[in-house]
Amino acid sequence: MNLRKCLLTKNECYQRGVKINPVGVMVHSTGANNPWLKRYVQPDDGLLGTNNNGNHWNRYRPDGRQVCVHALIGKLADGSIATYQTLPWNYRGWHSGQGSKGSANNMGYIGFEICEDGMSDGVYFAKVYREAVELTAYLCKMFGFNPLADGKVICHSEGHKRGIASNHADVMHWFPKHGKSMDTFRADVAAEMNKTTTEEDEDVDINKLLQDMTDEQAYLIYQKAVQHMVTLPEPEWSQKEGAWKKAQETGVMDGTSPERPLKRDEFAAVLDRKGLL
Ligand SMILES: [Zn+2]
Repeated sequence: MNLRKCLLTKNECYQRGVKINPVGVMVHSTGANNPWLKRYVQPDDGLLGTNNNGNHWNRYRPDGRQVCVHALIGKLADGSIATYQTLPWNYRGWHSGQGSKGSANNMGYIGFEICEDGMSDGVYFAKVYREAVELTAYLCKMFGFNPLADGKVICHSEGHKRGIASNHADVMHWFPKHGKSMDTFRADVAAEMNKTTTEEDEDVDINKLLQDMTDEQAYLIYQKAVQHMVTLPEPEWSQKEGAWKKAQETGVMDGTSPERPLKRDEFAAVLDRKGLL
């Protein structure tokens, strides 16, 4: 995945900054024949190219049209494929619209768009499909989603069927033209997650991971850790059950200060020792 970042800070969605607790991923495609990222993502960072039509999404819309996603996949100016993160993952997006039972936006779905071309080019499709698989696997790992579980990874049209999105056909008006569907997509995401786990297990550089971690990711891990800690039993209980002893024996904890809270880097080290990173 060629993941880059260009937050749409002038979009009203970004400026409102409503936070979500991510619950799943919604896959979209743009419904317009324009594979160039610069159509939507600006300013030019030297790779995107310049949108001379002034119709990109990094602007305030006087017409009040509410469109904003967490990421877009498409072509850079040189024709290669990239993914741009355009909203922090824990901001509410404006991508799903409203269904009969509610809105995926408000429920906390992370939404990204794949830029459509004329929909008949199999080479372009294969590249952006792959990029979308890798982005979704990355998000599922970050937020602990099982892509095969019901409702965790859905497209806009599936969201409509579930009553949580407006009546759009994406992406099932496009994927089947190239022998794919949301079922193949979920399976490919699951396979991608397994693949990267095995590769990373071999040599994890924890210091590098911590350096590369954004504040946002660190905060999410910290939140999870706190949620986890409050549900943990009292120290004596854990000592009676032998968990504390086991943690020392297996080297997950060094056996000192059972009652002191974990610091962020210590927690990362514990996850690493358990093979969870
Ligand atoms: Zn859509």
